[in-house]
Amino acid sequence: MQTKKIIFCKRCLYTNLHPFSITFNEEGICSGCLIHEEKNNLDWKLRLQKLKKIVKSYKSKSRKNYDCIVPVTGANDSHFIVHIVKNILGMNPLLVNYNKYFNTPIGISNLANLRLKFDLDILFKNINMNSVKKITKFTLLEHQNIYWPILAGHTVFPLEVAVNYKIPLIIWGAHQGLEQVGMFSHEHEVEMSRRYRENHDLFGMEAQDLITIDSDLTEEDISQYVYPDDKSIDEIGIRGIYLGNYIRWDPTSQHQLMIKKYGYKSCQLPRTFDTYDHVDCYNYMNLHDILKLSKRGYSKITDHVCREIRHKRLTREQGIELVNFYEHKKPENLDKFCDWLEIDANSLALVLNKSKNKNYWIQEDINKFKFTGPSAHFKNTKNNEINNNIKDILDKEFIKNRNINLNKKNEEYILFGKGVGELYE
Ligand SMILES: [Zn+2]
Repeated sequence: MQTKKIIFCKRCLYTNLHPFSITFNEEGICSGCLIHEEKNNLDWKLRLQKLKKIVKSYKSKSRKNYDCIVPVTGANDSHFIVHIVKNILGMNPLLVNYNKYFNTPIGISNLANLRLKFDLDILFKNINMNSVKKITKFTLLEHQNIYWPILAGHTVFPLEVAVNYKIPLIIWGAHQGLEQVGMFSHEHEVEMSRRYRENHDLFGMEAQDLITIDSDLTEEDISQYVYPDDKSIDEIGIRGIYLGNYIRWDPTSQHQLMIKKYGYKSCQLPRTFDTYDHVDCYNYMNLHDILKLSKRGYSKITDHVCREIRHKRLTREQGIELVNFYEHKKPENLDKFCDWLEIDANSLALVLNKSKNKNYWIQEDINKFKFTGPSAHFKNTKNNEINNNIKDILDKEFIKNRNINLNKKNEEYILFGKGVGELYE
């Protein structure tokens, strides 16, 4: 049982147990909800002007080099970021993508769509499969984490390209710490930093930390995940800015716009109602999400619900019903993951047991755990169906225009793909 008394935000569903620092005002509203209020009070026209001024000095005068780098994936906010950078800011970006290897056909197709519809150059980084598997196996067994290489790669590759191509500006979407827990105000205009990446994106684990006496990882395996040194960064004057500080960030309506304008592809995922985020990955909303629940006591459904409550598309009560519905849904495709990593199902089951944080789980038997995390305090609304009022809201806001189903025999992780003819229409 957790020793710390649990405090819920009165507006959203985050608690004082959130792994990022979260604070509450006297009325019991969390820092994330309070910073969210800035979205309704800031002069966004003025902030966009400010952004335009910042990026102006980075436009390549000779037109011989790219103006900036935009890290992209086949999901999340990539379409919207590229749309803003190219069409609103008038920049010529170089897109960069770290290959996560758990690609769905939708992710591959969205990436191709970015390349073709926006007519831009893109660089892919494909790390050799042996190292990726070795690192994933190590972080899974030792830290119950399968996403470390993906997050490390996604955050280091843009820096590498910035250094090698001498492009000083990297443009990201929203800052997660600001969006979720209000770690900063929009007006702080916080920028990318090595420290935030290590503490939050990488769960406090830098590449060098993976080389321990227990791991058979070598310098060679981790070399592609090492952040460039300060000297190289300073020499070029590399900075990474977040569009969310200058544009009123609302991923749901942004995705709706991207579907309408560019045919962004979306689908239902097993453990959330959000049909836009993470549709490029077979494992994020499956194994990765169940490990998050094990270790942190909450999963992505809570993040999605909190965001929707703040944007006033869902009420707190509807949010509770959705968390109750999705949080303990079984992850899918675990056998495909075991095949890929060359481990057996029993080893994975052991890892899943080991990952259960004693603050949120009571072990009742060898393979039986009782959940005591935040949602165990909610009113029990458990139903086999989502009630129709909520369903109507979700159907309207979260468009599903494709399907993926890895349980089908012929579907596998797509390692590489052109994005043409890969999608089951
Ligand atoms: Zn809140």
